[in-house]
Amino acid sequence: MYDPLVHPYPDLGHSNPDSYWLKISGAAPADDGALTGEVDADVAIIGGGYTGLSAAHSLARDYGIKATVLEARSSAWGCSGRNGSFARISGGRVPWVKLVKTYGREQAQAYFGELKKGLETVRSLIAEGNIECDRQPDGVYKVATFAQHAAYLQREAELYNTVLNYPAKFIDKNGLKGVHEGPESQGALYLPDGFSMNPLELARGIHRMARSHGARIHTNSPVIGWSNNGGLHYLKTPNGVVRARAVIIATNGYTSWKMHEGLAARVLPVHSQVIVTAPLTEEQIAASLPSMACMFDTRELLFYYRRLPDNRMLFGGRSAITGKDASAPRHKDYLYNAMVRKFPALAGIPVEHWWGGWVAVSRNSLPYCFKVPGAGEVYAAGGYAGSGVSFSTYLGTRLAMMAAGKAYNPAVSFLTREPERYPFSSFIRLGQWMAYRWLQAADARQTRKAG
Ligand SMILES: Cc1cc2nc3c(=O)[nH]c(=O)nc-3n(C[C@H](O)[C@H](O)[C@H](O)COP(=O)(O)OP(=O)(O)OC[C@H]3O[C@@H](n4cnc5c(N)ncnc54)[C@H](O)[C@@H]3O)c2cc1C
Repeated sequence: MYDPLVHPYPDLGHSNPDSYWLKISGAAPADDGALTGEVDADVAIIGGGYTGLSAAHSLARDYGIKATVLEARSSAWGCSGRNGSFARISGGRVPWVKLVKTYGREQAQAYFGELKKGLETVRSLIAEGNIECDRQPDGVYKVATFAQHAAYLQREAELYNTVLNYPAKFIDKNGLKGVHEGPESQGALYLPDGFSMNPLELARGIHRMARSHGARIHTNSPVIGWSNNGGLHYLKTPNGVVRARAVIIATNGYTSWKMHEGLAARVLPVHSQVIVTAPLTEEQIAASLPSMACMFDTRELLFYYRRLPDNRMLFGGRSAITGKDASAPRHKDYLYNAMVRKFPALAGIPVEHWWGGWVAVSRNSLPYCFKVPGAGEVYAAGGYAGSGVSFSTYLGTRLAMMAAGKAYNPAVSFLTREPERYPFSSFIRLGQWMAYRWLQAADARQTRKAG
């Protein structure tokens, strides 16, 4: 499997995922094929996921700039075609209590405002492009795995209401009956905004919209070399070169540390995996997940899950560290066992799809959108930490704004700051392995305590 810490770019040697989304989606949209020869572009975009496609769409629609997208494989081959499918008011992985403590109330409020625009961007793109992505009704539950987490969720609901002016609700254990069953259903934080859909079709819809406004999207066109001359960027692909005034880097968790010095070690690629089961019976649904809403839990290494429209269970979480190890069956078993622990009624149900992808975790676990210093007109956004369906789509529009020469000055200091680099890069996987062991041990202690 492609591993951004090992390989210089994703090439044809790296397979497609065994993804349920690929299986159920229609034909891939028309694109401009692999890049051949030398072409000129005002703006070149590296990466054809939500960030890159949304940037291309916004550049063309809002600024009249017909950008050229270079995608290593197929459109949405990275996270955007493989994710758990929750579009929420979210980005990064810092609990609100900590965010308020670290950056202050005003910054937290301003950040929440930006995140809300993220979800609005997805909603409005679906409407504008009539994107057929099986969008489900709104509703998100953060479910207390253990009884002792319920009080924390109650306080979090208060924070949402009093600090962020957002109508989150705490639901006690009894209130979850008929919504979420099983022993790990100890209360929940309910967020009224946020929905699931087919994430691959969402990306393909944005792809079609970008092209209809004049953007060019070249697939099977990995950037394998990058040089500058006279203020212009030369992006080399296996069979062509793009000469561009400005470059947008939209490779997020798929960013090889070897691609460009300006982006090296800014994010840690972290592997997230998903299983999709066979369809559940009516009895299994009633005893596990009657609701169709977006769900995630309160474990240290959390799990996210939903019931799909054809009544399969999608269940995701993190355990593999390297690309080499990601296809080891123990990672599938890890997800399966976690699902059955949560929903004993699903014991024995077959798993029909299992895949994973690279999410990007920055050092402060928050997203960034910045001009790469000392690189000329180069802009990058990413670091969504596995929570980027909506915010990547929004930051694509902000990258477009910056590449079009307009300022993006949100009242959130950390968002446009240059993200810190990870030190000790050769030990980074070891550090991550130790962190996972520690977090899993903490979860296991709580599970034992809960009996
Ligand atoms: C299993 C999983 C579950 C997830 N679930 C959720 C969820 O439920 N909700 C949520 O909000 N977020 C979720 N995420 C995260 C979310 O999918 C991402 O934050 C979002 O898709 C990021 O989009 P992007 O366009 O920035 O990056 P990506 O979609 O990863 O796109 C990057 C692209 O860059 C390309 N690329 C890399 N190097 C080169 C190169 N040298 N030349 C050309 N192209 C290159 C790659 O091929 C790739 O297609 C999940 C992620 C995973 C993996």
